[in-house]
Amino acid sequence: MSKVSIGLRGWRFDEEEILGDDGSLKPLAQIPPEPRERIARLATLVDKPCDACWLTYGEEERQRCKQAKVVYGEPLGEVLLCNEHEPDFLYWFREEGGTDLAGDRLLQNAFHQWFADGGEAPEGYGGMEHVDTDPDDVVQPEPDPQLDDLETELAEMSDEEREALDIDLSDLDL
Ligand SMILES: [Zn+2]
Repeated sequence: MSKVSIGLRGWRFDEEEILGDDGSLKPLAQIPPEPRERIARLATLVDKPCDACWLTYGEEERQRCKQAKVVYGEPLGEVLLCNEHEPDFLYWFREEGGTDLAGDRLLQNAFHQWFADGGEAPEGYGGMEHVDTDPDDVVQPEPDPQLDDLETELAEMSDEEREALDIDLSDLDL
């Protein structure tokens, strides 16, 4: 089964679970619960700034924060990164014990703390190839369908429908 990413690099999904025959995103109700939670989270995450930029510049200098390009970690404990800061995360994950928190929501906090304390990858630290923060996942090249339709779909649902899907949309602007 091939894997795809939607909106941001990082999280990968089984293509057959989330995409219809025409290659577009299935309605959420037809997507199994675990990928559904991540897909719904992605709709809230695609427009967010990079965490590391945010920790550097804060709300006052929000315009200097780059938009996130990649997501690592678990839903509600994600780490969002721009391309420039991805090596810092990869360095922390591989060399500073981050691996121990793979699959754990505490990953986000632990990375933030390390970065806020001045942690960074050594100059020229490579390793842009993907690491797995989800156990069991496989790296694959990825097409990138848009999340716009999903946002429309979520916006058009009634509260009951959203509740029935059992996903946390608390920070989605609907
Ligand atoms: Zn950044």
